[in-house]
Amino acid sequence: MDLTEPAVLATVEALRKWREARRRAGETLALIPTMGNLHAGHEALLGAARGEAHRVLATVFVNPAQFGPGEDYEGYPRTLERDLECLAAHAVDAAFVPTQAAMYPNGTRNAVTVEVKGISDILCGQSRPGHFRGVTSIVARLFNLTEPDVAVFGQKDYQQLVVIRRMTDELFFRVRIRGVPTVREPDGLAFSSRNHYLTKEERQQAPALYQALQQAARQLQAGADPASIARAGTQALIAAGFRPEYFEVRCADDLSPPEEGRARVILAAGWLGKARLIDNVQVN
Ligand code: AMP
Repeated sequence: MDLTEPAVLATVEALRKWREARRRAGETLALIPTMGNLHAGHEALLGAARGEAHRVLATVFVNPAQFGPGEDYEGYPRTLERDLECLAAHAVDAAFVPTQAAMYPNGTRNAVTVEVKGISDILCGQSRPGHFRGVTSIVARLFNLTEPDVAVFGQKDYQQLVVIRRMTDELFFRVRIRGVPTVREPDGLAFSSRNHYLTKEERQQAPALYQALQQAARQLQAGADPASIARAGTQALIAAGFRPEYFEVRCADDLSPPEEGRARVILAAGWLGKARLIDNVQVN
Protein backbone atom coordinates (compact mmCIF):
# COMPACT_ATOMS: atom_id res chain seq x y z
CA MET A 1 0.00 0.00 0.00
CA ASP A 2 1.18 3.50 -0.86
CA LEU A 3 1.79 5.20 2.48
CA THR A 4 1.79 8.70 1.02
CA GLU A 5 -1.83 8.59 -0.19
CA PRO A 6 -4.70 7.37 1.93
CA ALA A 7 -7.00 4.91 0.20
CA VAL A 8 -10.19 6.91 -0.27
CA LEU A 9 -13.13 4.66 0.58
CA ALA A 10 -16.41 6.23 -0.52
CA THR A 11 -18.77 3.29 -0.02
CA VAL A 12 -19.60 0.81 2.71
CA GLU A 13 -18.57 -2.01 0.34
CA ALA A 14 -15.13 -0.46 -0.27
CA LEU A 15 -14.67 0.07 3.47
CA ARG A 16 -15.63 -3.53 4.28
CA LYS A 17 -13.28 -4.89 1.63
CA TRP A 18 -10.40 -2.77 2.88
CA ARG A 19 -11.08 -3.78 6.50
CA GLU A 20 -11.26 -7.45 5.61
CA ALA A 21 -7.87 -7.29 3.85
CA ARG A 22 -6.34 -5.62 6.91
CA ARG A 23 -7.80 -8.34 9.13
CA ARG A 24 -6.47 -11.12 6.89
CA ALA A 25 -3.03 -9.51 7.14
CA GLY A 26 -3.34 -9.71 10.94
CA GLU A 27 -3.24 -5.93 11.33
CA THR A 28 -4.85 -3.87 14.11
CA LEU A 29 -6.78 -0.70 13.35
CA ALA A 30 -7.09 2.75 14.91
CA LEU A 31 -10.18 4.78 14.00
CA ILE A 32 -10.43 8.58 14.07
CA PRO A 33 -13.92 9.92 13.37
CA THR A 34 -13.97 13.55 12.17
CA MET A 35 -16.24 15.98 10.40
CA GLY A 36 -13.32 17.16 8.28
CA ASN A 37 -11.97 20.70 7.98
CA LEU A 38 -8.91 19.23 9.67
CA HIS A 39 -6.74 21.37 11.92
CA ALA A 40 -3.95 20.93 14.48
CA GLY A 41 -6.39 19.33 16.95
CA HIS A 42 -7.26 16.58 14.49
CA GLU A 43 -3.58 16.23 13.61
CA ALA A 44 -2.80 15.42 17.25
CA LEU A 45 -5.34 12.59 17.07
CA LEU A 46 -3.71 11.28 13.88
CA GLY A 47 -0.31 11.35 15.61
CA ALA A 48 -1.65 9.56 18.69
CA ALA A 49 -3.37 6.91 16.56
CA ARG A 50 -0.16 6.08 14.73
CA GLY A 51 1.39 4.53 17.83
CA GLU A 52 -1.76 2.58 18.70
CA ALA A 53 -2.27 0.21 15.78
CA HIS A 54 -0.80 -1.08 12.52
CA ARG A 55 -3.26 0.92 10.41
CA VAL A 56 -4.98 4.26 10.83
CA LEU A 57 -8.39 4.97 9.34
CA ALA A 58 -9.87 8.46 9.50
CA THR A 59 -13.47 9.19 8.62
CA VAL A 60 -14.65 12.49 7.19
CA PHE A 61 -18.42 12.90 7.46
CA VAL A 62 -20.43 15.96 8.43
CA ASN A 63 -23.05 14.08 10.42
CA PRO A 64 -26.47 15.71 9.91
CA ALA A 65 -27.94 13.84 12.90
CA GLN A 66 -25.86 15.77 15.42
CA PHE A 67 -26.98 19.20 14.20
CA GLY A 68 -30.19 20.66 15.58
CA PRO A 69 -32.73 22.71 13.62
CA GLY A 70 -31.25 26.13 12.86
CA GLU A 71 -27.69 25.00 13.60
CA ASP A 72 -24.80 25.30 11.15
CA TYR A 73 -25.10 21.98 9.24
CA GLU A 74 -25.40 23.67 5.83
CA GLY A 75 -22.65 26.20 6.48
CA TYR A 76 -20.25 23.82 8.25
CA PRO A 77 -16.88 24.12 6.46
CA ARG A 78 -16.31 21.31 3.94
CA THR A 79 -12.72 21.11 2.69
CA LEU A 80 -12.30 17.50 1.55
CA GLU A 81 -9.43 18.06 -0.87
CA ARG A 82 -7.32 19.81 1.76
CA ASP A 83 -8.35 17.21 4.36
CA LEU A 84 -7.07 14.38 2.15
CA GLU A 85 -3.75 16.21 1.76
CA CYS A 86 -3.56 16.52 5.54
CA LEU A 87 -4.30 12.80 5.98
CA ALA A 88 -1.62 11.98 3.38
CA ALA A 89 0.91 14.16 5.22
CA HIS A 90 0.22 12.12 8.36
CA ALA A 91 0.55 8.82 6.51
CA VAL A 92 -3.02 7.86 7.31
CA ASP A 93 -3.78 4.57 5.57
CA ALA A 94 -7.38 5.13 4.59
CA ALA A 95 -10.08 7.79 4.60
CA PHE A 96 -13.73 6.73 4.81
CA VAL A 97 -15.85 9.48 3.23
CA PRO A 98 -19.39 8.09 3.07
CA THR A 99 -22.47 9.79 1.66
CA GLN A 100 -25.38 10.69 3.88
CA ALA A 101 -27.47 8.00 2.16
CA ALA A 102 -24.89 5.35 3.01
CA MET A 103 -24.96 6.21 6.71
CA TYR A 104 -28.71 6.87 6.94
CA PRO A 105 -30.41 4.75 4.25
CA ASN A 106 -33.84 5.57 5.70
CA GLY A 107 -33.07 9.24 6.28
CA THR A 108 -32.17 10.80 9.60
CA ARG A 109 -35.80 11.15 10.77
CA ASN A 110 -36.41 7.41 10.56
CA ALA A 111 -32.93 6.28 11.49
CA VAL A 112 -31.98 3.71 14.10
CA THR A 113 -30.55 5.72 16.98
CA VAL A 114 -28.29 5.01 19.93
CA GLU A 115 -28.77 7.16 23.00
CA VAL A 116 -26.92 7.38 26.30
CA LYS A 117 -29.57 8.75 28.62
CA GLY A 118 -28.83 11.22 31.39
CA ILE A 119 -25.36 12.48 30.52
CA SER A 120 -26.54 13.29 26.98
CA ASP A 121 -29.10 15.72 28.40
CA ILE A 122 -26.91 17.95 30.60
CA LEU A 123 -24.40 20.71 29.72
CA CYS A 124 -24.13 20.85 25.90
CA GLY A 125 -27.07 18.44 25.65
CA GLN A 126 -29.33 20.91 27.38
CA SER A 127 -28.89 23.62 24.77
CA ARG A 128 -28.48 21.12 21.91
CA PRO A 129 -31.23 18.51 22.46
CA GLY A 130 -30.53 15.39 20.40
CA HIS A 131 -26.94 16.38 19.67
CA PHE A 132 -25.31 13.51 21.56
CA ARG A 133 -27.87 11.04 20.24
CA GLY A 134 -26.65 12.10 16.79
CA VAL A 135 -23.05 11.60 17.87
CA THR A 136 -23.56 8.16 19.42
CA SER A 137 -25.73 7.06 16.49
CA ILE A 138 -22.97 7.79 13.98
CA VAL A 139 -20.10 6.55 16.16
CA ALA A 140 -21.93 3.25 16.77
CA ARG A 141 -22.33 2.85 13.00
CA LEU A 142 -18.63 3.58 12.48
CA PHE A 143 -17.61 1.12 15.22
CA ASN A 144 -19.73 -1.63 13.69
CA LEU A 145 -18.46 -0.96 10.18
CA THR A 146 -14.77 -0.54 10.89
CA GLU A 147 -14.38 -2.80 13.94
CA PRO A 148 -11.44 -0.80 15.25
CA ASP A 149 -9.13 -1.97 18.02
CA VAL A 150 -8.85 1.59 19.29
CA ALA A 151 -10.75 4.79 18.56
CA VAL A 152 -9.24 8.20 19.20
CA PHE A 153 -11.20 11.27 20.35
CA GLY A 154 -10.24 14.74 21.58
CA GLN A 155 -10.66 15.90 25.16
CA LYS A 156 -11.71 19.24 23.66
CA ASP A 157 -15.18 17.68 23.36
CA TYR A 158 -15.03 16.36 26.89
CA GLN A 159 -18.70 15.49 27.32
CA GLN A 160 -18.66 13.70 23.96
CA LEU A 161 -15.75 11.57 25.18
CA VAL A 162 -17.59 10.63 28.38
CA VAL A 163 -20.77 9.79 26.43
CA ILE A 164 -18.84 7.63 23.94
CA ARG A 165 -17.05 5.77 26.73
CA ARG A 166 -20.42 4.98 28.31
CA MET A 167 -21.87 3.79 25.02
CA THR A 168 -18.83 1.65 24.35
CA ASP A 169 -18.96 0.02 27.79
CA GLU A 170 -22.69 -0.56 27.87
CA LEU A 171 -23.02 -1.88 24.31
CA PHE A 172 -19.93 -4.08 24.77
CA PHE A 173 -18.09 -2.66 21.77
CA ARG A 174 -14.69 -4.30 21.67
CA VAL A 175 -12.80 -1.07 21.15
CA ARG A 176 -10.48 0.86 23.44
CA ILE A 177 -11.27 4.58 23.65
CA ARG A 178 -8.25 6.86 23.73
CA GLY A 179 -8.65 10.53 24.70
CA VAL A 180 -6.12 13.09 23.45
CA PRO A 181 -5.43 16.43 25.22
CA THR A 182 -6.77 19.62 23.64
CA VAL A 183 -4.51 21.38 21.15
CA ARG A 184 -4.53 25.18 21.43
CA GLU A 185 -3.43 28.25 19.54
CA PRO A 186 -0.49 30.08 21.18
CA ASP A 187 -2.95 32.40 22.97
CA GLY A 188 -4.84 29.44 24.48
CA LEU A 189 -7.86 29.27 22.17
CA ALA A 190 -8.65 25.60 21.43
CA PHE A 191 -8.50 24.76 17.73
CA SER A 192 -11.99 24.31 16.32
CA SER A 193 -13.57 24.43 12.90
CA ARG A 194 -16.05 26.90 14.36
CA ASN A 195 -13.27 29.42 15.06
CA HIS A 196 -13.67 30.37 11.38
CA TYR A 197 -16.98 32.00 12.27
CA LEU A 198 -15.23 34.57 14.51
CA THR A 199 -14.67 38.10 13.26
CA LYS A 200 -11.22 39.58 13.77
CA GLU A 201 -12.39 41.37 16.89
CA GLU A 202 -14.13 38.30 18.32
CA ARG A 203 -10.98 36.27 17.67
CA GLN A 204 -9.16 38.67 20.02
CA GLN A 205 -11.80 38.10 22.73
CA ALA A 206 -12.00 34.32 22.29
CA PRO A 207 -9.01 33.30 24.52
CA ALA A 208 -11.01 34.65 27.48
CA LEU A 209 -12.85 31.32 27.54
CA TYR A 210 -9.71 29.31 28.34
CA GLN A 211 -8.47 32.06 30.68
CA ALA A 212 -11.71 31.91 32.67
CA LEU A 213 -11.41 28.12 32.91
CA GLN A 214 -7.79 28.33 34.07
CA GLN A 215 -8.75 30.92 36.69
CA ALA A 216 -11.58 28.61 37.83
CA ALA A 217 -9.15 25.68 38.06
CA ARG A 218 -6.85 27.71 40.30
CA GLN A 219 -9.78 28.65 42.54
CA LEU A 220 -10.93 25.04 42.74
CA GLN A 221 -7.43 23.90 43.68
CA ALA A 222 -7.35 26.62 46.35
CA GLY A 223 -10.52 25.13 47.85
CA ALA A 224 -13.18 27.56 46.58
CA ASP A 225 -16.74 26.33 46.36
CA PRO A 226 -17.88 25.08 42.92
CA ALA A 227 -21.05 27.18 42.85
CA SER A 228 -19.17 30.45 43.39
CA ILE A 229 -16.53 29.37 40.86
CA ALA A 230 -19.29 28.82 38.33
CA ARG A 231 -20.81 32.24 39.03
CA ALA A 232 -17.42 33.98 38.70
CA GLY A 233 -16.65 32.10 35.48
CA THR A 234 -19.98 33.09 33.97
CA GLN A 235 -19.33 36.73 34.91
CA ALA A 236 -15.84 36.58 33.36
CA LEU A 237 -17.32 35.31 30.09
CA ILE A 238 -19.95 38.07 30.05
CA ALA A 239 -17.26 40.68 30.75
CA ALA A 240 -15.29 39.35 27.76
CA GLY A 241 -18.25 39.73 25.41
CA PHE A 242 -19.57 36.14 25.46
CA ARG A 243 -23.16 35.02 25.80
CA PRO A 244 -22.46 32.13 28.20
CA GLU A 245 -24.45 28.91 28.00
CA TYR A 246 -22.96 27.20 31.01
CA PHE A 247 -19.89 27.23 33.25
CA GLU A 248 -19.81 24.23 35.59
CA VAL A 249 -17.62 22.10 37.79
CA ARG A 250 -18.29 18.35 37.49
CA CYS A 251 -16.72 15.02 38.40
CA ALA A 252 -14.35 14.13 35.57
CA ASP A 253 -15.35 10.50 35.10
CA ASP A 254 -19.14 10.72 34.84
CA LEU A 255 -19.97 14.47 34.85
CA SER A 256 -21.92 14.10 38.10
CA PRO A 257 -21.96 17.06 40.57
CA PRO A 258 -18.49 17.75 41.97
CA GLU A 259 -17.25 15.87 45.02
CA GLU A 260 -14.04 16.52 46.84
CA GLY A 261 -11.48 13.76 46.54
CA ARG A 262 -12.53 12.94 42.99
CA ALA A 263 -10.92 14.24 39.80
CA ARG A 264 -12.95 17.14 38.45
CA VAL A 265 -13.42 18.94 35.18
CA ILE A 266 -14.60 22.48 34.60
CA LEU A 267 -16.60 22.86 31.41
CA ALA A 268 -17.88 25.96 29.67
CA ALA A 269 -19.77 26.91 26.54
CA GLY A 270 -20.70 30.28 25.16
CA TRP A 271 -21.45 32.26 22.07
CA LEU A 272 -19.19 34.88 20.61
CA GLY A 273 -21.06 36.39 17.68
CA LYS A 274 -22.01 33.51 15.38
CA ALA A 275 -19.56 31.05 16.94
CA ARG A 276 -20.51 28.67 19.73
CA LEU A 277 -17.27 27.84 21.55
CA ILE A 278 -16.70 25.13 24.15
CA ASP A 279 -13.69 24.27 26.27
CA ASN A 280 -12.76 22.56 29.52
CA VAL A 281 -9.91 22.01 31.96
CA GLN A 282 -9.34 19.01 34.17
CA VAL A 283 -8.40 19.39 37.84
CA ASN A 284 -6.93 16.40 39.61
P1 AMP B 1 -14.82 17.22 14.77
O1 AMP B 1 -14.27 17.12 13.39
O2 AMP B 1 -14.97 18.61 15.27
O3 AMP B 1 -16.04 16.36 14.98
O4 AMP B 1 -13.73 16.59 15.73
C1 AMP B 1 -13.20 15.31 15.47
C2 AMP B 1 -12.34 14.91 16.63
O5 AMP B 1 -11.29 15.86 16.82
C3 AMP B 1 -13.11 14.85 17.96
O6 AMP B 1 -12.68 13.71 18.68
C4 AMP B 1 -12.69 16.13 18.63
O7 AMP B 1 -12.74 16.06 20.04
C5 AMP B 1 -11.26 16.26 18.16
N1 AMP B 1 -10.79 17.65 18.29
C6 AMP B 1 -11.38 18.75 17.77
N2 AMP B 1 -10.70 19.87 18.12
C7 AMP B 1 -9.67 19.45 18.89
C8 AMP B 1 -8.61 20.12 19.57
N3 AMP B 1 -8.46 21.45 19.54
N4 AMP B 1 -7.72 19.37 20.27
C9 AMP B 1 -7.85 18.02 20.32
N5 AMP B 1 -8.82 17.33 19.70
C10 AMP B 1 -9.72 18.04 19.00
